[in-house]
Amino acid sequence: MEKLNLFSVAQKQLDQCAKILNLDSNTHEILRVPMREIHVSLPVRMDDGSIKVFRGFRVQYNDARGPTKGGIRFHPEETIDTVRALAAWMTWKCALLDLPLGGAKGGVICNPKQMSQGELERLSRLYIDRIWQFIGPEKDIPAPDVYTNPQTMAWMMDEYSKIVGKNQFGVITGKPLGIGGSAGRDDATARGGLYTVREAAKECGIDLRKATVAIQGYGNAGYNAASLCKTLFGSEIVAISDSKGGIFSKKGLDPEAVLEHKAKTGSVINFPDTRPISNEALLELDVDILIPAALENVITDLNAPKIKAKIVAELANGPTTPEADDILYKNGVHVIPDFLCNAGGVTVSYFEMVQNFYMYYWEEKEVHERLDKKMTIAYHSVLDASKEYSINMRQAAYVVAVKRVVEAMKLRGWV
Ligand code: NAD
Repeated sequence: MEKLNLFSVAQKQLDQCAKILNLDSNTHEILRVPMREIHVSLPVRMDDGSIKVFRGFRVQYNDARGPTKGGIRFHPEETIDTVRALAAWMTWKCALLDLPLGGAKGGVICNPKQMSQGELERLSRLYIDRIWQFIGPEKDIPAPDVYTNPQTMAWMMDEYSKIVGKNQFGVITGKPLGIGGSAGRDDATARGGLYTVREAAKECGIDLRKATVAIQGYGNAGYNAASLCKTLFGSEIVAISDSKGGIFSKKGLDPEAVLEHKAKTGSVINFPDTRPISNEALLELDVDILIPAALENVITDLNAPKIKAKIVAELANGPTTPEADDILYKNGVHVIPDFLCNAGGVTVSYFEMVQNFYMYYWEEKEVHERLDKKMTIAYHSVLDASKEYSINMRQAAYVVAVKRVVEAMKLRGWV
């Protein structure tokens, strides 16, 4: 079977939005392709003395609203089209949150699981040596993504600072706290998503103190969502799953105890006083809130008619197929689309840049308050557009974001 080309998916989504907005063809053509792509070869000295040449990319999609921003992925199956698609989505996500930023993404084809720390450090530094002219706090600001982490960001920031001859913490975000990272970055994605859930619950007339929640995936996004659902709302988490299977308890689960169990046993399954549930059945539970926080394409035309949740909060990227979207919309399920729901991460990354510029760091409480404000405003802009155009929440998120990018292009005289 032909592999799904993510970039053609991203282009189709834009085409659909262009139709809704009646976008002129010149503007549409510009927005369909990245403004700049950098392709590099990275000859890295391996621990055994040999040299291995890796391929790397940085795609800067559109900078009409400000310097571009987006993560760097180290992945064995990375492709230029995946990076292009992710760069496009970063453009729309930053615009939707009204951040003064454009969108970008980077990738290196490599398998970090088979590389030593020394090899990874040399690869990270070389990647920056090859692209440094094109990035910078006022040009393009990378961040961590799949298989890169705060340590990778620390090496990259250090390399860039050495090349330009001064400390430049603001060139990259997702850094460790000791060298310019931001408080509140760890749980920013889940926290931001839950601020939108709070607003959605008001819209749907759900009392969150009595609400039931099911969560697919128990990593950074899933665990923090479970923990915060309890502490922020007092909701009951009735089901949790990971790649090995799921658990259900009508009485509710203690997120911290489940995390401890997963750390000890490698999975959430077999947690005491629960019954097993499959990942498929979890999605179809009769709960108030369903949070996919693992994989893409898990809600399809096959199971969408059976979804009973009132709100689907997409912390994962791309969990719902376009066909399923239509079904959920017709059935009155309120979907908080991925590039709104999981935008808390990039929002706090933006706060990190701002703090680096200021050379003054906010307390966690201030980060939370500012994140809440951004997420709440973004949620309501999408809800309003969904009502104004009679379109689903995902299409509405596109409409808000693309309109803002187009406005900036017009103001700058590009179209
Ligand atoms: P993670 O690697 O920390 O956790 C992923 C979890 O999903 C793990 O618990 C894993 O066991 C589970 N999983 C894997 N396969 C599964 C399956 N078949 N069924 C059920 N569970 C399965 O990843 P994460 O950072 O929590 O990211 C999860 C999703 O959220 C991804 O789609 C990611 O793109 C998205 N996201 C995360 C962030 C972030 O800041 N962490 C930001 C934006 C989007």
